[in-house]
Amino acid sequence: MPKCTICSSKIQEVFLEKLKGTIVRKPGSSKQYQVCFECQKKFKTKEELIEKIK
Ligand SMILES: [Zn+2]
Repeated sequence: MPKCTICSSKIQEVFLEKLKGTIVRKPGSSKQYQVCFECQKKFKTKEELIEKIK
């Protein structure tokens, strides 16, 4: 099960393999970071999410 990059909690998978949460990509990097729905709610903008991943 994938884990959230920010809070390390497990990300629930919903049907059709769609993750509950989002995928964040840092500018200039092709690496993808999974972020759970809760963190996505907490940090509203992509900039804030990227800040937390550092
Ligand atoms: Zn999280």
